[in-house]
Amino acid sequence: IWKELQESYRKEMNPVSYNTWIEPAKPISFYDNQLIIEVPTTVQKNYWEKNLAGKILETFFMMSGEEILPTFVTPDEAESYKQEEPKEEENTPKFPEHKTMLNSKYTFDTFVIGKGNQMAHAAALVTAEDPGAIYNPLFFYGGVGLGKTHLMQAIGHQMLEIHPTAKVKYVSSENFTNDFINSIQNNKMEEFRNEYRTMDLLLVDDVQFLVNKEGTQEEFFNTFEELYRNNKQIVLTSDRLPNEIPNLPKRLVSRFAWGLSVDITPPDLETRTAILRKKAEAENLEIPDDTLSYIAGQIDSNIRELEGALVRVQAYAAIQSSDITTSLAAEALKALKVGTNLSQLTVEQILEKVAEYYHINTTDLTGKKRTKGIVVPRQIAMYLCRNLTDYSLPKIGAEFGGKDHTTVIHAYEKVNQLLEENETIKNEVKEIKNLLME
Ligand code: ADP
Ligand code: MG
Repeated sequence: IWKELQESYRKEMNPVSYNTWIEPAKPISFYDNQLIIEVPTTVQKNYWEKNLAGKILETFFMMSGEEILPTFVTPDEAESYKQEEPKEEENTPKFPEHKTMLNSKYTFDTFVIGKGNQMAHAAALVTAEDPGAIYNPLFFYGGVGLGKTHLMQAIGHQMLEIHPTAKVKYVSSENFTNDFINSIQNNKMEEFRNEYRTMDLLLVDDVQFLVNKEGTQEEFFNTFEELYRNNKQIVLTSDRLPNEIPNLPKRLVSRFAWGLSVDITPPDLETRTAILRKKAEAENLEIPDDTLSYIAGQIDSNIRELEGALVRVQAYAAIQSSDITTSLAAEALKALKVGTNLSQLTVEQILEKVAEYYHINTTDLTGKKRTKGIVVPRQIAMYLCRNLTDYSLPKIGAEFGGKDHTTVIHAYEKVNQLLEENETIKNEVKEIKNLLME
């Protein structure tokens, strides 16, 4: 998950900020929802706490559905945490100790029924009561974050409630693929088949990702056949109907269509509000109804994002130690739209810091003097503007006393080159950046 988190930062941030702040940070332990992240210096620690912590919480939640408490530590402090680190998991699948892989939160109890999902919900209930007998396979399709995974896992929980000894397994199609590949590499095919082909209920999520993997498709097909023949229940999900998944082999398409396919469509405002209310209740949050419907009105399709918004509002309220109100929610969600705090640096701030650092005037930076003591700082300032603000090249040029955008590009490339060749410059740029982030 850390990798994905880094990826999402990489996409949002410019490369230099990314390398300065994100790259050196590394997670060292995760225990009881507390994520310990080691960063090299106190400056970095402060920066993470101030600017990146909220985002981590949110991103992590969006990806895993777990709420975490990020704690940032310097290498000294890190020592005491390192002992807690859990043993590294082996890469080889351990089938003998069967795990259902169900998320305990995804039950029927926590699922809110609305127009967009009532058919799917009804089919899920029937299937849980009488697995293998009615809709086989049961196939849910619909957009991201609409509750497919939740609903499919609810079937698993319900079935285990009724038959505690039933063999139930949830797997994403990626994990199915990985298990399959690892099993081949480790000569564990027998265990693999023993696991997958003896389930009473097999839940395979996001089957659209099975495409273009012939060996896996073959294995999946055979698993399917075996389970089906023995009247074992199969539940599948995808972002679209089987026959709309490009490159999915015909025989899989036709198997998937044997049972019932139901779509899940985006929830209406009422349902979204009800979902938020349920979640707020589960977490013992006091939130007025009009605030709930305000938040529900801001995010209109993806329920995961909706939950993310609630987490954000909650974090915002906690930081300010205030109650959750509509105006607080508005403020918290406004920040969401503007993007990361990095873009809040202005060209002026950069000019001032650079000038201060080199003991020159800001007017020198924006002027035309070509002496060496000024040209390089000017280029560095342009470079930083390009990296640390959202300003376009022409706009940066304009801020530097009406220079052409090609001058800015030239400066940018020049500094990039200097950073590689010149240790002094490299350190200077780093120091200025640290000053700017304080
Ligand atoms: P999908 O698999 O369709 O992308 P998920 O099942 O992962 O979506 O749902 C995203 C998030 O929204 C999960 O945290 C889930 O619990 C929540 N969610 C989705 N639908 C509902 C619902 N009807 N009631 C309550 N929570 C829901
Ligand atoms: Mg899903």
